[in-house]
Amino acid sequence: MRISAAVTEARGAAFTLDSLELDEPRPAEVVVRMVGSGICHTDLAVRDQKRHMPLPAVLGHEGAGVVEAVGDGVTHVGPGDHVVLTFNSCGGCRMCAQGRPSYCDLLDAHNFAGLRVDGTTPLHRESGDVHGVFFGQSAFATHALANERNVVKVDPNVPLVPLAPLGCGFQTGAGAVLNSLRPSAGSTVVVFGAGSVGLSAVMAAVVAGCTTVVAVDVNGRRLELAREVGATHVHNGTESDTASFLRELTAGLGADFTVDTTGAASVLRQAVDVLNQGAYAV
Ligand SMILES: [Zn+2]
Ligand SMILES: [Zn+2]
Repeated sequence: MRISAAVTEARGAAFTLDSLELDEPRPAEVVVRMVGSGICHTDLAVRDQKRHMPLPAVLGHEGAGVVEAVGDGVTHVGPGDHVVLTFNSCGGCRMCAQGRPSYCDLLDAHNFAGLRVDGTTPLHRESGDVHGVFFGQSAFATHALANERNVVKVDPNVPLVPLAPLGCGFQTGAGAVLNSLRPSAGSTVVVFGAGSVGLSAVMAAVVAGCTTVVAVDVNGRRLELAREVGATHVHNGTESDTASFLRELTAGLGADFTVDTTGAASVLRQAVDVLNQGAYAV
């Protein structure tokens, strides 16, 4: 079918709309009409080739939309279903068998190769093939070809656009707290960086019953949002010393759990330094 997609032609280039041909779905594949897509730092890292994937390619990995067609072997979704797309995985390796598909042995092959595992791409144009299946979807397009393993059916009464970031940013932040840290009720959690991953971590900490939930950022607007979604305290690192603020807040003890969402070495160092005895950072 003919689709329109935002193509990344070369390293650092602007996303450019182009008309492409999308393959018909193979047995385990699902064609989804995109309604919304988030944009994540990983899209930009690949565009800038800091995270390798062959170009030209269609990026985008926080897609949400409506199923338009499915392959012969697909059983759990059908045309008309509302779905959110997430990363793809093999389903057959030891990690997938343990229910931990985000650690799939073949994660790179299924998400960053720009090709199906058989070496083909589902995206084509007159001048040649375009790499696709980014995170098993390539969502920056009117339609995406996903796999039945990475489409999740959602309630059709819920608006699709705000659901899109569930596929990456939201589950990264919430999963870090709920699956990796597993804080007990009453804990103190400090989240460094209040972007979508950090705000999701804040919300998860609230859901987990943490009673002191701190968001640290340098952007006042983000910190306001952190308060709206449940942070009990916020701290702007440009206004005063973060370590002193946290020491005072915890009566000198330090935090039970910290979450770094910035990837900046200095912030990660701080996220470890402000822990108390026996505490954990992710
Ligand atoms: Zn992402
Ligand atoms: Zn696997």
